[in-house]
Amino acid sequence: MSSDLVIVYHRQPYEEVQNDDGTVSYVENKSPNGIVPTLKSFFGRFDKGAWVAWKEAEDTSNPGFERVIEIEDRYGKYSVSRLPLTAEQVKSFYHVTSKEAFWPILHSFKERYNYDPVDWPTFREVNWNFAEAAAAEAAEGANVWVHDYNLWLVPGYLRQMRPDLKISFFHHTPFPAADTFNVLPWRKEIVQSLLACDIIGFHIPRYAANFVQVARSLFDVETSKREKVIPEFASEVTALSERTQPVEISFEGRKIVISSSPVGVDVDYIDKLARSEKKQERVKALKEDFKDEQLILSVGRTDYTKGSIEQLLSYERLLENHKELRGKVRLLHVSVPANANMTAYQEIQEAIESIAGRINGRFGSLEWQPLALISRPIPFEDLIAYYRVADVAWITPLADGMNLVAKEYVASRIDDDGVLVLSEFAGAAVEMGSAVLVNPFSNKSMDSGIFSALNMPGEERKARMEALRGVVAKYDIRYWAESQMALFGSPKAAPSPQS
Ligand code: UDP
Repeated sequence: MSSDLVIVYHRQPYEEVQNDDGTVSYVENKSPNGIVPTLKSFFGRFDKGAWVAWKEAEDTSNPGFERVIEIEDRYGKYSVSRLPLTAEQVKSFYHVTSKEAFWPILHSFKERYNYDPVDWPTFREVNWNFAEAAAAEAAEGANVWVHDYNLWLVPGYLRQMRPDLKISFFHHTPFPAADTFNVLPWRKEIVQSLLACDIIGFHIPRYAANFVQVARSLFDVETSKREKVIPEFASEVTALSERTQPVEISFEGRKIVISSSPVGVDVDYIDKLARSEKKQERVKALKEDFKDEQLILSVGRTDYTKGSIEQLLSYERLLENHKELRGKVRLLHVSVPANANMTAYQEIQEAIESIAGRINGRFGSLEWQPLALISRPIPFEDLIAYYRVADVAWITPLADGMNLVAKEYVASRIDDDGVLVLSEFAGAAVEMGSAVLVNPFSNKSMDSGIFSALNMPGEERKARMEALRGVVAKYDIRYWAESQMALFGSPKAAPSPQS
């Protein structure tokens, strides 16, 4: 009970590597998810930090299992509590309940929602264990920051165990409207747990407004407008494209702040990488490779929410309808499989491979291949080189909480060139109004978006990119961190998340 910040996130904040001598080393995450370093950077602002995650362990009574380990890396010293979960518990809590029931609902894909296999008692048990581990680490009055939907029940349990704590919850996903959310039979239990928080965070005001609507539909809550949550921020983003005001909810004698603050990227770090000498050489070589073609880049996880199929079909129509583009464009489609064992993801992967093969078969020749499909993660530093040379970044999810790739592309364009084509249904679209915004549910919108990006005059490209770079630089990861700290009410200044 000694940490003044406890982060509760399902994944461990490092990767474990088995050494030849049987020992284990903890190294920086290489997996394609940018939020872990950002969260770790918060430890520098508190006296003592702790992280709670799960670790798969078949024999949980094994005395060799180290439940709490101390880590020291460039983010400082912090402890990590590892909850031992059996493979069965992981499958039930994570792959079934979280990914088959919650994930489709959060992204408004009711038709993909699979309720039958959910084992609710196991979900409760795992969440209870997370809450217990957090309660064991937290000092009196500490901030406990819980992340994402697979830990929805943690705040409620934690409030019972430790009424003294300041509990915050951040959603990294979208949050749907009541008609969709209330499909979940556990809706009351989930929302009641969230209402045990002091702060409930979302990326954008629309998700926050949806949550308020859901809470109103289930409980007798009172809402009031807050003047300002994060001074300038809320009003500026609201002015861009949203009309919602920041809100406070009163429930059972407590006040809960509903905040919206879009997570940003580490602009300084990306800028440094983009300008590094090594990167310049790689960029030069890639530019030479693509000197006769316009390069379109698409990067995302293999997931039905990411809209890969819709995008590939649009690319096929582009080549079908515009013969002049054949031999002149190339699509680099990076789709990284995340949950290899899940049928829904395997099906998407197979569909992507099949359409990609068809496109290359229909339009390719010995000299020209219209599409390169990459189904494995590209190291972040290499991705920066691709961002630097891609004439167009084509990011068209059907639903996406934020989408960091869009912001990273913009942050990499130190030449003020390149066109971002972005789905209106990515959270990032709220801030990125100067992108070519498209509706991925409309063939017409998708097709005209990519065609106009490929044909955009240099002056317009520059004007749009400059505007985007201004927004991405201002609302970067430090801004997000400051906005969270303002909510936590802690005075320390920000260290850099990456460097
Ligand atoms: N990413 C990566 N290599 C890849 C694909 C993705 O490093 O091959 C990173 C990417 O740079 C970004 C993150 O993975 O930081 C994906 O975040 P995003 O918000 O776009 O999507 P999410 O996967 O969180 O839905």
